[in-house]
Amino acid sequence: MRGQILRYLEEANSEDDAAERRSSLTFVVAGGGFAGVETVAALNDFVREALPFYPNLSEEMLRVILVHSGPAILPELGESLGRYTEKVLAGRDVEVRLNTRVKSVTEGKVFLTDGVSIPSRTLVWTAGTVPSPLISSLPCEKERGRLLVDQFLGVPEWPNVWAVGDCAFVPDIRNPGQSHPPTAQHAIREGKVVAQNIAAVILGRPLKSFSFRTIGLLASIGRRMGVARVFGFNFSGFFAWWMWRTVYLSKLPGLDKKVRVAFDWTLDLLFPKDVCAVHDLDQRRDFRWPDHAGNASGNNGDHEIGSAQLNWRECPGEIDDWDNALERFLL
Ligand SMILES: Cc1cc2nc3c(=O)[nH]c(=O)nc-3n(C[C@H](O)[C@H](O)[C@H](O)COP(=O)(O)OP(=O)(O)OC[C@H]3O[C@@H](n4cnc5c(N)ncnc54)[C@H](O)[C@@H]3O)c2cc1C
Repeated sequence: MRGQILRYLEEANSEDDAAERRSSLTFVVAGGGFAGVETVAALNDFVREALPFYPNLSEEMLRVILVHSGPAILPELGESLGRYTEKVLAGRDVEVRLNTRVKSVTEGKVFLTDGVSIPSRTLVWTAGTVPSPLISSLPCEKERGRLLVDQFLGVPEWPNVWAVGDCAFVPDIRNPGQSHPPTAQHAIREGKVVAQNIAAVILGRPLKSFSFRTIGLLASIGRRMGVARVFGFNFSGFFAWWMWRTVYLSKLPGLDKKVRVAFDWTLDLLFPKDVCAVHDLDQRRDFRWPDHAGNASGNNGDHEIGSAQLNWRECPGEIDDWDNALERFLL
């Protein structure tokens, strides 16, 4: 996404056609849950920080839009934190469109159910995830597309078959008729219980029921701002953001990852965002590496790029614009 945003900024910077420029500079995120809000907030921060590097672009040309089907975003956190988040996002020039859905998409337009069409070339879909298609092909009972399990996380009628995490519909024994939400904090704990229950079956011991109450929910809503509900208490602003970072840092597996991310986040506090673009080579597939450069790819992918190393592959016509071709390759 970062690469795509920078590519569109580059294109818009040299685009004369106002309509084309508008669709390159409009970014739409569908879904006002945790993933959508965090995505739109981060995207908005990034694109606005990158803008000063493009002399022909200005803030007024940008549109960052969050589309949500309900009356308030972040419904899991309650209305007051949802409204607070809307205010923060609006203060940062994000358009929040409520009570509407994305109906269809073309290459240059996003259509909403309320009849609005938004010229945009970027749509980020966060409005719901589904389990792997493999699940639907299994001959076991399912509920809302997920494998139904009992309180011990076993699949009924299928001895020694278990399911946990996002693919499982795990009944909440504290609230009959309800299921546990598909979150990592549940999946990790379900994993431990299922391991104990598999061992219990082998050893002939009694099985353990799965029960867990959500500890808290946290979301980052843009630079140094967050919202959180922990043990039933609401938090917002800088403290919630700090809590979000601290909790997620603590959850990263392994000391090396924790240190790398902590360094990265610290640098992020001190310096502006890195807006260098590294585009995928497959989009420039008309070029190929000569053999000696190809051999170098075993060397961790590091190449010394020089124009003498570039060859045009199976090009049916002449290359009449080498400057442009090289520029496209090197961008
Ligand atoms: C954008 C986003 C943000 C989220 N944020 C949070 C959050 O802040 N807090 C939170 O608690 N939860 C969050 N979640 C939810 C959380 O990520 C999931 O609930 C959790 O990862 C579920 O764990 P899992 O092991 O069931 O599935 P996954 O983590 O999806 O792991 C499934 C694994 O199975 C592999 N796989 C798939 N098919 C096969 C196959 N046929 N054979 C072998 N392997 C296969 C996949 O490659 C994958 O590695 C978020 C989810 C999303 C999408």
